[in-house]
Amino acid sequence: MIPFLSLQNTNKPYHDDLKRIFTETLEKGWFILGQELVTFENRFASYCETNFCLGVANGLDALTIILKACKYPPQSEIIVPANTYIATILAVINAGLKPVLVEPSQETYLIAPNQIELAITTNTRAIMLTHLYGKCCEMTAIQAIAEKYQLHIFEDAAQAHGATYLGVKAGNLGDAAGFSFYPSKNLGALGDGGAITCNSESLAQAYRQLRNYGSSQKYVFDEVGLNSRLDEIQAAFLSLKLEYLDVENQYRQKIARSYLEQIQNPSIILPPSNTIDEDAWHLFVIRTDNRDKLRSYLAENGIGTDIHYPIPPHKQKALSEFNHLSFPITEKIHQEVLSIPLNPTLQELEVEYIIEKINYFNG
Ligand SMILES: *Cc1c(COP(=O)(O)O)cnc(C)c1O
Repeated sequence: MIPFLSLQNTNKPYHDDLKRIFTETLEKGWFILGQELVTFENRFASYCETNFCLGVANGLDALTIILKACKYPPQSEIIVPANTYIATILAVINAGLKPVLVEPSQETYLIAPNQIELAITTNTRAIMLTHLYGKCCEMTAIQAIAEKYQLHIFEDAAQAHGATYLGVKAGNLGDAAGFSFYPSKNLGALGDGGAITCNSESLAQAYRQLRNYGSSQKYVFDEVGLNSRLDEIQAAFLSLKLEYLDVENQYRQKIARSYLEQIQNPSIILPPSNTIDEDAWHLFVIRTDNRDKLRSYLAENGIGTDIHYPIPPHKQKALSEFNHLSFPITEKIHQEVLSIPLNPTLQELEVEYIIEKINYFNG
């Protein structure tokens, strides 16, 4: 059986170091807002080539804090992809703002620049984009639009640790970026975690205050903030795992290359292959008209898969005010996508086996 993803396996190479870090943290007895957090923040900022990084409790909070710090008038419009994980949209709602959903390009699954421009009104303040599946959005076109209409760009980089766009790291492609360290992400903690990266010192200071109850100094509160901090122990685990992120991403790229070169089946559409070495390959997502049949066929052959995602955000009960909207490309993508195993613990023979089985599939 090849599982879609085994978190037991992904953490196995680091067991000895993780146990040592646990013991050290336990003995030190400092658990929140300490030296381990500062160390990780400095390392992750330097990894993303940004001036600042602020650890927070999770990816959703990272995005929410980024938007709250802007102090836009209530109900300002924020452009978001219709084709994204729901957190991107929830962050806008949490911040008291209005998400305006925009269709993706059918080839990349990423927010389509020309559709962004059509959605802009006098109330639009920012574009919050998602580098979905680990592939960066079309930043040259999006940056030109943002400049023309004086909009901020924020990145949902929760699936894109280490991805680049024309050599620039995800996290450094807009005004600020939110990352998640949920255990299954390319850089995953042993629990929840997140971070914000940015280059502006005043934004960094605003995020630092918002994540800690809106507190400017101990027991002094300047605004209504969140309790959203990255624990010392998670920060220390992440500092360790960050050292291996590039090697793991390179291995992901190698598997992606094998899939792209060797999966040949007329009933299956592969993801874009033009930027293999820039993508973080958080997920390898294929498409077919016959998704459920392919999924059960692979399961019968011992191959675990997952669907990212089965129901589009605008069709969720939680977002009932958007249920009447129609986003045909987003809906089609949600009906057809299937994620096949791609992770740093997948063996070469397993990759070959998966390719062989997919090529034999009779769609
Ligand atoms: C995982 C994820 C998030 C949310 O991260 P959490 O840490 O679970 O809050 C946000 N956006 C995208 C695209 C994600 O994949």
